[in-house]
Amino acid sequence: MSDDSRPLDCLRCPAFCCKIAGYVEVSEYDIRRLAKFLGLTKSEFEAKHIVERTRRGKKHIKAEYETCQFLDSKRRCTVYEARPTDCRGYYCWDAEDQSVYRAAAFIQVPVRTQQKEDRENRK
Ligand code: SF4
Ligand code: SF4
Repeated sequence: MSDDSRPLDCLRCPAFCCKIAGYVEVSEYDIRRLAKFLGLTKSEFEAKHIVERTRRGKKHIKAEYETCQFLDSKRRCTVYEARPTDCRGYYCWDAEDQSVYRAAAFIQVPVRTQQKEDRENRK
């Protein structure tokens, strides 16, 4: 858990988690779920969407530091209902590595500062 507990707003974030936060691994279950969602067979999905395989045979749909192929131009996940398990548990503020949290917080601080000033001006 972050030592900085400020709440973040994912809608105000450039979706760093789907861009810079590292690779996304998919289990066989994830692959079946994604393939079904996209109307593909498992092998069609793998041929089209697995972007890298590790030496240990792990499969990734997103490579480290690269934007996920399933993120659209409005920063929405286009496979949200079928997103991989890796993505389901991911909140940048709960990650051990704080770099993504800090990036998201940095982007959002000026907005909060402005909101605070606005509230004070309305008093
Ligand atoms: S990086 Fe954090 S704040 Fe930004 S979209 Fe992902 S979870 Fe939300
Ligand atoms: S599958 Fe969806 S939630 Fe997961 S990294 Fe890609 S765009 Fe983000």
